[in-house]
Amino acid sequence: MSKALYLEDMLQKEFEAEVVSVKDGKYVVLDQTAFYPKSGGIANDEGTLTRGSDVFKVVYVGKFGGDISHEVDHEGLQVGDKIKGSLDWDRRYKLMRYHTAAHVLSGAFYKSLGAKITGNDIATTDQGRIDFNLEHFDRALIEDTVDKSNEIVQKDLPVEVYNLDRTTVEQDPDLVKLAMGIPKGIQRLRIVDIKGFDRQPDGGCHVQSLSEIGKISIKKLVNKGKNNRRLYFTIE
Ligand SMILES: [Zn+2]
Repeated sequence: MSKALYLEDMLQKEFEAEVVSVKDGKYVVLDQTAFYPKSGGIANDEGTLTRGSDVFKVVYVGKFGGDISHEVDHEGLQVGDKIKGSLDWDRRYKLMRYHTAAHVLSGAFYKSLGAKITGNDIATTDQGRIDFNLEHFDRALIEDTVDKSNEIVQKDLPVEVYNLDRTTVEQDPDLVKLAMGIPKGIQRLRIVDIKGFDRQPDGGCHVQSLSEIGKISIKKLVNKGKNNRRLYFTIE
């Protein structure tokens, strides 16, 4: 199992690691990595793995059976190689801003409209998407909720990430909801806490305070039929 450095330090841009396996020449597993693998509706990091003067571009990162696999642009890395990893920070930072923005929107849609979020997708650095259940497709109401989200962002609330024992979560009436839907085998929950606004169990990367998000704008609203609404948004 590769150690996921981004779970502990979401601001780490560079790291040193050792190659522990290479599949088909281009799929590289390291003993530890700061690269976020595509998961939870959030796109993977990109960047480079460097061995001496050889630079391997990381074009995709995925999670396979507990391992984080880096797809590089050419063959050559060998088991035992010591490498330096370096993230494309512009990309990662944008993905973090979008991810935290999606949490603010989810929180606002739930609090203001009772809308349940059914999915989110941050596949690129150009836009984000959330899907939610809402009985009436009321554009003005949705616009109003996005305005409320921006008011929350302007409050510049801190975003904290911490781990809690599952038993602690399940015994606390304020927290118990966070454990719902999380597989039984998971004993420690990683919580992303927008202080005083919204808490979610989450394995992803976020900004440290809400003002880093910028301004959220609606790009497109789609009526997906019975109760299903889709919001594409941008940040600037
Ligand atoms: Zn999330």
